[in-house]
Amino acid sequence: MRVQQRAADAFTEETLDPGNWREALALSRQIVEDAVAYLRDVRDRPVWRQMSPEVRACFLTPLPRAPQPLADIYGTITETVMQYPMGNIHPRFWSWYMGTSNFTGALGEFLAAIQGSNVGGGDHAAALMDQQVVNWCKEMIGFPDSASGTLVSGGSMANLICLTVARNEKSGVDVREHGLGALRKPLRFYGSDQIHGCHRKAMEALGLGNCALRRIPTDRELRIDIGALRSAIAEDRAAGFQPACIIASAGTVNTGAIDDLVATGALAAEEDLWLHVDGCIGALLAIAPENAYRVAGIERAHSVALDPHKWLHAPFEAGCALVRDASAHRKTFSATHEYLATTARGLASAPWLHEYGLQTSRGFKALKIWMSLKEHGIEKFGRLIDQNIAQARYLAELIEAEPVLELAAPTNINIVCFRYRRHDFDRAALKSVNSEIMLRLQEEGIAALSDTTVHSEHCLRVAINNHRTRRGDLELLLKAVVRLGDDIVRGSRALPQA
Ligand SMILES: *Cc1c(COP(=O)(O)O)cnc(C)c1O
Repeated sequence: MRVQQRAADAFTEETLDPGNWREALALSRQIVEDAVAYLRDVRDRPVWRQMSPEVRACFLTPLPRAPQPLADIYGTITETVMQYPMGNIHPRFWSWYMGTSNFTGALGEFLAAIQGSNVGGGDHAAALMDQQVVNWCKEMIGFPDSASGTLVSGGSMANLICLTVARNEKSGVDVREHGLGALRKPLRFYGSDQIHGCHRKAMEALGLGNCALRRIPTDRELRIDIGALRSAIAEDRAAGFQPACIIASAGTVNTGAIDDLVATGALAAEEDLWLHVDGCIGALLAIAPENAYRVAGIERAHSVALDPHKWLHAPFEAGCALVRDASAHRKTFSATHEYLATTARGLASAPWLHEYGLQTSRGFKALKIWMSLKEHGIEKFGRLIDQNIAQARYLAELIEAEPVLELAAPTNINIVCFRYRRHDFDRAALKSVNSEIMLRLQEEGIAALSDTTVHSEHCLRVAINNHRTRRGDLELLLKAVVRLGDDIVRGSRALPQA
């Protein structure tokens, strides 16, 4: 025994653990203190700032070979990374569509990394919490207990997971074993012309190709035209295709339009198709007392993709795929590996959670969601959703009252499409003025919004998925838009006419 002990001491084994835990603790306290101040004062900083060449150069330094004190590294981070965020935690960030994160969620991320579990499977607390959060997501949208689900990186992955199950279930052959070559007829999927871009990528990755996703025209409210959908399905059957799946959008990314989930569900049932709901924006309306009615019928879909990093404000990333038929879900992704056998007792005695998706190793995403849901309760999250929708309505009213602004699409939930308008400007001139307004708002750090084209009309787009936005922020935005628009127009008129 003594001999062995001496032999072990002869090795100088290394570790990544801190050399001095007291110093590590002191620096950690400093980091937490700074983090609290950073969030507390977010409103006082610009939404976004251009990085200087010097700052950019910090990200071109060579691969570090020698060690460096952690305190110095943290110093660099505070001056670079923390000073130049994307801006989406700011109260006046309304670009594209994303959530605003939250402090408790950030603590959850930290603790999840400290605890460090891999949620690919195994019998441990993180795995149980992962399933509990999936169960809560099911409950939020009214899915049955028997449904299954998995937490993934975001909505794009959640949609891909669900569409893979739909493809396999509706192909009529063993696609997993034999591939698409075994299909008797080419499959067809259907979505509106407002469908999110991730579905195209999914169709391509699934080997079906972009053309297999038919884009169906939308009505004035930007919802899928049910009559046109019905005709497209009939046309495809007659032409020898196999209609497989309707992808209904519960909240489109352009305008927040919600396809008629009851009608698409009825049509899917009539035609024996899979109904998938892309609920990345709108599935969680189901928890908002004033707006839940908009997604009535979502609970009858075969699968739903939703995004906790949007209206639950989980720090990136967190998406969730839900599948009504748990066995169809598992059948799509289960695989037995000799190195991942289940045992009767011990660490490997629980179901393998990697059998519900594409990843093997999985991060502990559940903790950040779990902690903030526990802290605030689901009713508050529902009220915050209602609050964003009421704010969007308020913004739309302000726009309607302002002569140089006009709405460019109906405001349905929390997305407002509008533009600065001069009656003597043609479409191209309006597009360039509005694009310039958008860029100056960003460059001046006032607000971040994005632009889009709806039914061929270019417009600015404000997506309020933000628990920090106040009405005053929206008033400030419109004042700035009018000021910048007027400046730009004045500038262009001062130029000699070409
Ligand atoms: C955000 C969004 C997605 C993609 O989700 P990510 O989390 O960004 O991957 C898909 N569909 C809709 C309608 C979305 O709003």
